[in-house]
Amino acid sequence: MGTASKKILVTGGVGYIGSHTCIELIASGYDIVVYDNLSNSNIEAIKRVEQITDKEIEFVQGDLLDETLLTQIFSQHQFFAVVHFAGLKAVGESVAQPLKYYKNNVAGTVNLLEVMQHHQVFNFVFSSSATVYGDPEQLPITETAPRSTTNPYGRTKLIIEYMLEDLCASDPRWQVVSLRYFNPVGAHDSGKIGEDPNGIPNNLMPYISQVAVGKLEKLRIFGNDYPTVDGTGVRDFIHVVDLAKGHISAIDYLVKNSTDKKESIGFFAVNLGTGSGTSVLQLVNAFTEATGQIVNYEFSPRRAGDVASCYAQVDLAEQNLNWQAHLDIYDMCKDTWHWQSQNPNGYEK
Ligand code: NAD
Ligand code: UDP
Repeated sequence: MGTASKKILVTGGVGYIGSHTCIELIASGYDIVVYDNLSNSNIEAIKRVEQITDKEIEFVQGDLLDETLLTQIFSQHQFFAVVHFAGLKAVGESVAQPLKYYKNNVAGTVNLLEVMQHHQVFNFVFSSSATVYGDPEQLPITETAPRSTTNPYGRTKLIIEYMLEDLCASDPRWQVVSLRYFNPVGAHDSGKIGEDPNGIPNNLMPYISQVAVGKLEKLRIFGNDYPTVDGTGVRDFIHVVDLAKGHISAIDYLVKNSTDKKESIGFFAVNLGTGSGTSVLQLVNAFTEATGQIVNYEFSPRRAGDVASCYAQVDLAEQNLNWQAHLDIYDMCKDTWHWQSQNPNGYEK
């Protein structure tokens, strides 16, 4: 079976990273079925993906907790792999409503894995996060760094990673690539799809772009006394299109491993980042340089739970997945602005 005939289930495929990944999956010749309950996304994103790719997408509106519907989908399709984006991701909300997060993210993933097992689909790509590294002891962060987290959202990611490790240890037919994303930003260069947060954004880049477009008055920079280049926090921002391509590399890796009938890869965790850190102030300045837009800001106290610096060691992805990020911080700013300025109200829910 060649790549062209392989079918992939994309859970959470209507969301920010999922929608960008759908484009790359289609461009690489994979057939896709998107499964999403639209709890944090708008179906318009899929319509735009259809416009960009000129391909009709099979979409099922459903919840990870709906085992009956999942079973039905797996009976109708022979999937090679599941790319699992579906999950809730708001740190603050997870502190206020932890059970919602454990149920949706952890129980939802258990359900999905059970249905996969029942239908003998054993290839899995998981959306993990640099949050599993907690406050890193060493930089850049390697995949073998100790794991810990500081909030319920992060704990759902960590619990799912442990669960996937146990599953792989129990049965070598399971092959899991756990992609630990650093800070995804940017948008597709068409300007048709991008990040569309609900309400006031928690994350830096959407906040910057909403200040630039005039929806928010000014950015508050959380802390200017960190031990960093200019005192503001440092992160490894990665363009969402590079990130999306990382998923194709992960699936290609699973395909190759299955075709070559090599030993199971078991549980394989890989960082997806650029490998270099950018400070909050550097990002604000890059945004102005790339777009000509002034971003008003003021310094305010540190945000609870934030770490000073976080950036990835990316050798493993290069060596094993043959993947590396190509787009720089200016591309990230330019494409964010393209999306934001063309869609000031996002998908207009
Ligand atoms: P997103 O909210 O835009 O996309 C997630 C999608 O999953 C949404 O379309 C939502 O409707 C869907 N969903 C949620 N719960 C579901 C359920 N029970 N059943 C079916 N669908 C459900 O988020 P994103 O930024 O695209 O993130 C995708 C994944 O990557 C998430 O698992 C997130 O935790 C992880 N991640 C994101 C970031 C980030 O900064 N964006 C960083 C690291 C990891
Ligand atoms: N940040 C900020 N103002 C904001 C949002 C974020 O100064 O309105 C800072 C934050 O303190 C951190 C960096 O930007 O140093 C990245 O934050 P984000 O929430 O985007 O990602 P994460 O905290 O998950 O790395």
